[in-house]
Amino acid sequence: MDKERRLIIAGNWKMNKTVAEGLDLVNGIKRELTNVKEVDIVVCPPFTALCEVSKAVLNSNIRLGAQNMSENGYGAHTGEIAAGMLKEFSVRYVILKHTERRQYQKESDALIAKKALAAHGAALKPIVCVGETLAEREGGLTEKVLDTQVRGSLAGLSKDQIAETVVAYEPVWAIGTGKTATAGQAQEAHAFIRRLIGKLFDESVARRVRIQYGGSVKPSNARELMGLPDVDGALVGGASLEDRSFADIVRNSI
Ligand code: PEP
Repeated sequence: MDKERRLIIAGNWKMNKTVAEGLDLVNGIKRELTNVKEVDIVVCPPFTALCEVSKAVLNSNIRLGAQNMSENGYGAHTGEIAAGMLKEFSVRYVILKHTERRQYQKESDALIAKKALAAHGAALKPIVCVGETLAEREGGLTEKVLDTQVRGSLAGLSKDQIAETVVAYEPVWAIGTGKTATAGQAQEAHAFIRRLIGKLFDESVARRVRIQYGGSVKPSNARELMGLPDVDGALVGGASLEDRSFADIVRNSI
Protein backbone atom coordinates (compact mmCIF):
# COMPACT_ATOMS: atom_id res chain seq x y z
CA MET A 1 0.00 0.00 0.00
CA ASP A 2 1.49 3.30 -1.09
CA LYS A 3 0.76 5.90 1.58
CA GLU A 4 1.99 9.45 2.02
CA ARG A 5 2.84 8.82 5.68
CA ARG A 6 4.35 5.69 7.21
CA LEU A 7 1.70 3.57 8.92
CA ILE A 8 1.97 3.08 12.68
CA ILE A 9 0.10 0.15 14.20
CA ALA A 10 0.13 0.00 17.99
CA GLY A 11 -1.28 -2.64 20.32
CA ASN A 12 -2.70 -1.34 23.60
CA TRP A 13 -2.66 -4.28 25.99
CA LYS A 14 -4.44 -2.24 28.69
CA MET A 15 -4.49 -3.93 32.12
CA ASN A 16 -3.78 -7.38 30.66
CA LYS A 17 -0.84 -9.79 30.66
CA THR A 18 1.51 -10.85 33.40
CA VAL A 19 5.20 -10.58 32.61
CA ALA A 20 5.30 -14.20 31.40
CA GLU A 21 2.16 -13.77 29.27
CA GLY A 22 3.50 -10.51 27.86
CA LEU A 23 6.73 -12.21 26.86
CA ASP A 24 4.82 -15.01 25.14
CA LEU A 25 2.76 -12.46 23.24
CA VAL A 26 5.63 -10.26 22.15
CA ASN A 27 7.77 -13.21 21.14
CA GLY A 28 4.86 -14.50 19.06
CA ILE A 29 4.45 -11.09 17.39
CA LYS A 30 8.19 -10.99 16.71
CA ARG A 31 8.06 -14.39 15.03
CA GLU A 32 5.01 -13.48 12.96
CA LEU A 33 6.31 -10.10 11.81
CA THR A 34 10.02 -10.63 11.65
CA ASN A 35 10.40 -9.42 8.05
CA VAL A 36 7.97 -6.52 8.13
CA LYS A 37 9.71 -3.22 7.44
CA GLU A 38 6.93 -1.16 5.87
CA VAL A 39 5.03 -0.31 9.07
CA ASP A 40 5.99 1.06 12.50
CA ILE A 41 4.91 -1.71 14.89
CA VAL A 42 4.41 -0.74 18.54
CA VAL A 43 3.36 -2.74 21.59
CA CYS A 44 2.14 -1.01 24.75
CA PRO A 45 2.29 -3.45 27.70
CA PRO A 46 1.36 -2.53 31.26
CA PHE A 47 4.18 -0.84 33.24
CA THR A 48 4.98 -4.07 35.07
CA ALA A 49 5.95 -5.85 31.84
CA LEU A 50 7.93 -3.01 30.23
CA CYS A 51 11.31 -4.12 31.53
CA GLU A 52 11.15 -7.69 30.24
CA VAL A 53 9.34 -6.83 27.01
CA SER A 54 11.96 -4.15 26.30
CA LYS A 55 14.67 -6.82 26.42
CA ALA A 56 12.63 -9.08 24.13
CA VAL A 57 12.23 -6.40 21.44
CA LEU A 58 15.84 -5.21 21.50
CA ASN A 59 17.26 -5.16 17.93
CA SER A 60 13.88 -6.06 16.44
CA ASN A 61 11.35 -4.18 14.29
CA ILE A 62 9.03 -3.77 17.30
CA ARG A 63 8.99 -0.53 19.28
CA LEU A 64 7.79 -0.09 22.81
CA GLY A 65 5.05 2.20 24.06
CA ALA A 66 3.61 2.93 27.51
CA GLN A 67 -0.05 3.43 28.33
CA ASN A 68 0.28 6.57 30.43
CA MET A 69 2.80 8.79 32.22
CA SER A 70 2.89 11.62 34.71
CA GLU A 71 2.99 15.24 33.64
CA ASN A 72 5.61 15.74 36.40
CA GLY A 73 9.29 14.92 36.53
CA TYR A 74 10.84 12.81 39.29
CA GLY A 75 9.69 13.60 42.81
CA ALA A 76 6.96 13.28 45.38
CA HIS A 77 4.14 11.84 43.26
CA THR A 78 3.24 8.50 44.82
CA GLY A 79 2.08 5.89 42.36
CA GLU A 80 3.06 7.88 39.27
CA ILE A 81 5.61 7.13 36.54
CA ALA A 82 7.84 9.85 35.08
CA ALA A 83 8.84 10.04 31.41
CA GLY A 84 12.47 9.53 32.40
CA MET A 85 11.57 6.19 34.00
CA LEU A 86 9.99 5.03 30.74
CA LYS A 87 13.11 6.02 28.84
CA GLU A 88 15.10 3.57 30.95
CA PHE A 89 13.26 0.79 29.11
CA SER A 90 13.74 2.34 25.67
CA VAL A 91 10.08 3.31 25.48
CA ARG A 92 9.49 5.46 22.36
CA TYR A 93 5.74 6.16 22.50
CA VAL A 94 3.22 6.89 25.22
CA ILE A 95 -0.57 6.72 24.92
CA LEU A 96 -2.23 9.79 26.42
CA LYS A 97 -5.88 10.62 26.97
CA HIS A 98 -7.17 7.15 26.27
CA THR A 99 -10.94 7.24 26.56
CA GLU A 100 -10.84 4.90 29.56
CA ARG A 101 -8.60 7.37 31.42
CA ARG A 102 -10.84 10.26 30.40
CA GLN A 103 -13.84 8.35 31.69
CA TYR A 104 -12.50 6.74 34.88
CA GLN A 105 -9.60 8.99 35.88
CA LYS A 106 -11.33 12.16 34.64
CA GLU A 107 -8.28 13.33 32.72
CA SER A 108 -8.82 16.74 31.14
CA ASP A 109 -7.48 18.17 27.89
CA ALA A 110 -5.38 20.64 29.89
CA LEU A 111 -3.73 17.80 31.80
CA ILE A 112 -3.03 15.97 28.55
CA ALA A 113 -1.40 19.07 27.08
CA LYS A 114 0.99 19.07 30.07
CA LYS A 115 1.68 15.36 29.67
CA ALA A 116 2.29 15.76 25.93
CA LEU A 117 4.80 18.55 26.60
CA ALA A 118 6.55 16.43 29.24
CA ALA A 119 6.64 13.47 26.84
CA HIS A 120 8.28 15.53 24.09
CA GLY A 121 10.67 16.97 26.68
CA ALA A 122 11.89 13.39 27.23
CA ALA A 123 11.92 12.55 23.50
CA LEU A 124 8.88 10.29 23.80
CA LYS A 125 6.25 10.49 21.08
CA PRO A 126 2.77 10.91 22.53
CA ILE A 127 -0.18 9.07 20.99
CA VAL A 128 -3.00 11.46 21.87
CA CYS A 129 -6.47 9.93 21.69
CA VAL A 130 -9.56 11.91 20.74
CA GLY A 131 -13.09 10.81 19.96
CA GLU A 132 -16.77 11.42 20.45
CA THR A 133 -19.36 9.40 22.37
CA LEU A 134 -22.40 7.91 20.66
CA ALA A 135 -24.66 10.60 22.13
CA GLU A 136 -22.33 13.29 20.78
CA ARG A 137 -22.28 11.70 17.31
CA GLU A 138 -26.05 11.32 17.27
CA GLY A 139 -26.42 14.91 18.45
CA GLY A 140 -24.35 16.14 15.49
CA LEU A 141 -21.53 17.22 17.79
CA THR A 142 -18.66 15.10 16.46
CA GLU A 143 -16.69 17.93 14.88
CA LYS A 144 -17.25 20.27 17.79
CA VAL A 145 -16.01 17.62 20.24
CA LEU A 146 -12.97 16.79 18.12
CA ASP A 147 -12.17 20.47 17.72
CA THR A 148 -12.24 21.03 21.50
CA GLN A 149 -10.19 17.91 22.25
CA VAL A 150 -7.54 18.52 19.58
CA ARG A 151 -7.11 22.20 20.48
CA GLY A 152 -7.04 21.48 24.21
CA SER A 153 -4.74 18.50 24.27
CA LEU A 154 -2.19 19.82 21.76
CA ALA A 155 -2.08 23.33 23.26
CA GLY A 156 1.42 24.64 23.80
CA LEU A 157 3.23 22.17 21.52
CA SER A 158 5.57 23.56 18.86
CA LYS A 159 5.08 22.75 15.18
CA ASP A 160 7.93 20.23 15.28
CA GLN A 161 6.43 18.58 18.35
CA ILE A 162 3.03 18.33 16.65
CA ALA A 163 4.60 16.67 13.63
CA GLU A 164 6.14 14.09 16.00
CA THR A 165 2.85 13.53 17.83
CA VAL A 166 0.51 10.73 16.78
CA VAL A 167 -3.20 11.53 17.05
CA ALA A 168 -5.51 8.54 17.50
CA TYR A 169 -9.11 9.06 16.43
CA GLU A 170 -11.06 6.65 18.60
CA PRO A 171 -14.84 7.03 18.53
CA VAL A 172 -15.82 6.02 22.06
CA TRP A 173 -18.77 3.99 20.78
CA ALA A 174 -16.42 1.79 18.73
CA ILE A 175 -13.94 0.91 21.49
CA GLY A 176 -14.24 -2.66 22.68
CA THR A 177 -17.79 -2.89 21.33
CA GLY A 178 -17.19 -4.75 18.07
CA LYS A 179 -18.71 -1.73 16.25
CA THR A 180 -16.34 -0.09 13.80
CA ALA A 181 -16.72 3.31 12.20
CA THR A 182 -17.58 2.96 8.53
CA ALA A 183 -14.87 3.90 6.07
CA GLY A 184 -16.81 7.11 5.36
CA GLN A 185 -17.12 8.05 9.03
CA ALA A 186 -13.44 7.34 9.72
CA GLN A 187 -12.14 9.24 6.68
CA GLU A 188 -14.40 12.21 7.43
CA ALA A 189 -13.19 12.47 11.04
CA HIS A 190 -9.53 12.02 10.10
CA ALA A 191 -9.74 14.62 7.33
CA PHE A 192 -11.41 17.02 9.79
CA ILE A 193 -8.62 16.55 12.34
CA ARG A 194 -5.94 17.07 9.69
CA ARG A 195 -7.63 20.24 8.39
CA LEU A 196 -7.88 21.53 11.96
CA ILE A 197 -4.18 20.89 12.59
CA GLY A 198 -3.48 22.73 9.33
CA LYS A 199 -5.48 25.70 10.59
CA LEU A 200 -3.98 25.66 14.09
CA PHE A 201 -0.37 25.09 13.02
CA ASP A 202 0.36 24.90 9.29
CA GLU A 203 -0.19 22.79 6.22
CA SER A 204 3.19 21.09 6.26
CA VAL A 205 2.68 19.98 9.89
CA ALA A 206 -0.79 18.72 8.98
CA ARG A 207 0.64 16.71 6.11
CA ARG A 208 3.28 15.13 8.39
CA VAL A 209 1.22 14.29 11.47
CA ARG A 210 0.05 10.68 11.65
CA ILE A 211 -3.56 10.01 12.60
CA GLN A 212 -4.40 6.49 13.72
CA TYR A 213 -7.88 4.99 13.80
CA GLY A 214 -8.92 3.01 16.89
CA GLY A 215 -12.13 1.16 17.66
CA SER A 216 -12.63 -2.57 17.10
CA VAL A 217 -9.89 -2.85 14.47
CA LYS A 218 -9.46 -6.49 13.48
CA PRO A 219 -7.85 -8.44 10.65
CA SER A 220 -11.05 -8.35 8.59
CA ASN A 221 -11.43 -4.55 8.56
CA ALA A 222 -7.79 -3.43 8.69
CA ARG A 223 -7.23 -3.34 4.93
CA GLU A 224 -10.16 -1.07 4.19
CA LEU A 225 -9.49 1.29 7.10
CA MET A 226 -5.74 1.52 6.51
CA GLY A 227 -6.36 2.20 2.82
CA LEU A 228 -8.20 5.46 3.56
CA PRO A 229 -6.22 8.54 2.54
CA ASP A 230 -6.11 10.19 5.99
CA VAL A 231 -5.79 7.03 8.10
CA ASP A 232 -2.14 6.45 8.99
CA GLY A 233 -2.35 3.43 11.23
CA ALA A 234 -4.33 1.83 14.01
CA LEU A 235 -4.49 1.77 17.78
CA VAL A 236 -5.68 -1.74 18.56
CA GLY A 237 -7.07 -2.97 21.87
CA GLY A 238 -8.72 -6.40 22.02
CA ALA A 239 -7.21 -7.78 18.82
CA SER A 240 -3.68 -6.92 19.99
CA LEU A 241 -3.85 -9.46 22.83
CA GLU A 242 -3.27 -12.40 20.52
CA ASP A 243 -0.16 -12.61 18.34
CA ARG A 244 -1.83 -13.97 15.21
CA SER A 245 -4.65 -11.41 15.11
CA PHE A 246 -2.30 -8.47 15.76
CA ALA A 247 0.10 -9.77 13.12
CA ASP A 248 -2.75 -10.24 10.64
CA ILE A 249 -3.83 -6.64 11.17
CA VAL A 250 -0.28 -5.49 10.38
CA ARG A 251 0.01 -7.79 7.35
CA ASN A 252 -3.40 -6.80 6.00
CA SER A 253 -2.44 -3.13 6.26
CA ILE A 254 0.60 -3.34 4.01
C1 PEP B 1 -8.53 0.92 22.41
O1 PEP B 1 -8.67 0.57 23.56
O2 PEP B 1 -7.82 1.90 22.15
C2 PEP B 1 -9.24 0.19 21.38
C3 PEP B 1 -9.30 0.72 20.19
O3 PEP B 1 -9.82 -1.02 21.75
P1 PEP B 1 -10.52 -2.08 20.78
O4 PEP B 1 -9.60 -2.30 19.61
O5 PEP B 1 -10.68 -3.29 21.62
O6 PEP B 1 -11.82 -1.49 20.36
